[in-house]
Amino acid sequence: MHNKTPSDLVLVTGGSGFIATHCIIQLLEQGYRVRTTVRSTGGEADVLILLKNGGCIPGERLSFAIADLMSDSGWSKAVEGCRYVLHVASPFPLTLPKQEDDLIIPAREGTLRVLRASRDAGVERVVQTSSYAAIGYGHGGARTSFDEKDWTDTGSPHVAPYTKSKTLAERAAWAFMEKEGGKMELSVINPVLVMGPILGKDYSTSLEIVRRLMDGELPGCPRLNLNIIDVRDVAKLHVSAMTNPLAQGERFIASAGIRSVKEIALTLKERLGDRARRVPARNLPDLLLKIAALFDPPVRQILPELGKTYTAVNDKARNVLGWTPMNVQDTIVDTAISMIQQGALKKS
Ligand code: NAP
Repeated sequence: MHNKTPSDLVLVTGGSGFIATHCIIQLLEQGYRVRTTVRSTGGEADVLILLKNGGCIPGERLSFAIADLMSDSGWSKAVEGCRYVLHVASPFPLTLPKQEDDLIIPAREGTLRVLRASRDAGVERVVQTSSYAAIGYGHGGARTSFDEKDWTDTGSPHVAPYTKSKTLAERAAWAFMEKEGGKMELSVINPVLVMGPILGKDYSTSLEIVRRLMDGELPGCPRLNLNIIDVRDVAKLHVSAMTNPLAQGERFIASAGIRSVKEIALTLKERLGDRARRVPARNLPDLLLKIAALFDPPVRQILPELGKTYTAVNDKARNVLGWTPMNVQDTIVDTAISMIQQGALKKS
């Protein structure tokens, strides 16, 4: 381990985000000082509310900086005095962008801005939040399991703009480190679909499936099999990768296991009873989704995944960092309960 001291300052980019807020909470719990970025003045109050909803009153150990991934302005101030940086921010919209560059440019150029500023400020290690999207897509049908040695093929026509943005951003980060990184170190976390407790009414795109199930917006369960990880385990992995010497120069998949949408639905029904009364218990015929996809471009993105099972192998994080994710069922239930508590679901 690096010799951590209580005064160590960590920058977390994008403090308003689902994963970032959980990272901030865990860092503060462990005694670090944290600075986080928001895009514009006023965003600070929103972050404080999310943290409070997560049971965290940060006091003087949390500070803010203003910076946008699309601009150089503010990044050198944001990283000043930081020993570590968790670069979590990146666009993750629910809908398809007008052009793929709307996602690729902030993801890739923003990552380079954060890395350049961090190197210039003498930051020891950056942990980048990449994604399993940078690992397991565009490989064709034959393979069914992927690990950290794999890279998504961005040349494949089936790779969506978000997937491309995450792959290109991570590739750019490693290329930067090789040529211009100097003494600075980089570790990368590649989470699968992240669920777990939301801390406000706005929540990440990855939780939409649970919201739609709970709100009864789906007539049945699409035949999708999802690799799932809890946001608290993702945050834990970031903090571990930040100081563990074995994490230097490595990427780590964060995944707890696979559940079909129908299994998720049945878990919700079984564990939440009447609170999950709108959740469907049957599979949705593929044909219905294919028709829906004619009118709904985001639905089109999931068609190639119907009925397939791809495994995101999590051995490396377990073996190298001694990380153990929690039970997926509990994650699913905690996600739905937090949505009820935060008022994110339809009123009955
Ligand atoms: P989120 O809640 O939507 O958070 C995204 C964060 O990025 C927000 O703080 C957002 O700020 C910030 N951001 C977006 N564009 C920005 C820009 N141009 N300049 C500055 N900040 C910007 O999503 P999340 O789930 O926490 O995702 C966080 C990271 O994890 C992303 O890198 C995402 O790709 C990665 N990831 C997520 C999952 C998942 O399933 N959730 C899985 C794998 C990887 P605003 O609030 O101002 O918009």
